[in-house]
Amino acid sequence: MADIIPLRPANLAPPAPVVPWPRGMRSALLLAFDVDAESAWTALDPENAGRLVTMSYGGYEARVAVPKILEFLRAQDIKATFFVPGWTAEAHTAMCEAMLRDGHEIGHHGCLHLRPEPANEPQMREELERGLEILKRRLGVTPAGYRAPFAETCDFLLRLIRDKGFVYSSSLRDDVRPYRNLPSDGIPGTIELPVSPNFDDWQFGLTHRQSPRSLFGREHVMSIWRDEIDEMREWGGMISTVLHPQVSGRPIRFRILRDLVAHAKGYGDIWIAPGRDIAAHWARQVGLEAAAE
Ligand SMILES: [Zn+2]
Repeated sequence: MADIIPLRPANLAPPAPVVPWPRGMRSALLLAFDVDAESAWTALDPENAGRLVTMSYGGYEARVAVPKILEFLRAQDIKATFFVPGWTAEAHTAMCEAMLRDGHEIGHHGCLHLRPEPANEPQMREELERGLEILKRRLGVTPAGYRAPFAETCDFLLRLIRDKGFVYSSSLRDDVRPYRNLPSDGIPGTIELPVSPNFDDWQFGLTHRQSPRSLFGREHVMSIWRDEIDEMREWGGMISTVLHPQVSGRPIRFRILRDLVAHAKGYGDIWIAPGRDIAAHWARQVGLEAAAE
């Protein structure tokens, strides 16, 4: 046991510096969507590939949710980040092309959306490399950002994404400001744009026999999200969402998405920007231009 539980903090990165947001903004909102599509379900159980109702939860993204979300973002003049697994880019290429046409950012989100397991380095490398290859071949994208599928990452993966040239990762949940990852080999890693765990729509809005939970209505979810936005604005930090089109793109959830954007925009001093812009701004502020180019 002593071998696998080191007596030191899991994250060795020094505290996040306090840097100003651009143009006098008080805080930042990275509106990020994880476009798992059907891979959310095949990653739970490969046999789901033949279970058409289960698969249809993910298929809803390409048929309805993403076009609807793109239309909304266009009307709101907002650029978002879509974290896309290689599987999604391969199976739903046209959907991803539509994101790019609208000027949104596409980030890396694994390939088959398999959960990174620290004991399985070959699988983590394959997920990362296959995802990169498909994003490049199908969409011409070399992603700046990475978000770990199934909300898990590890030291090996922090080193791997740094060595593959990623600018930023948005996976860890231990800060309210961007900071620089520091893998165990002591060589600084990607910029981390920390995730706000309370902004994962799956836990409020999707239930299935393989992913069972209670649903929460708009007033309940917005009371949580409003408080976090308001307080984060006071703190001068950033929020990075984990929205899934198969959740927030359902009619009942769409109203919550609309309220969330309206609340953040209402202040006029919350910077809503894709991850690449937030990372580039932060890099410039701390004198890291090269990393953000
Ligand atoms: Zn995901």
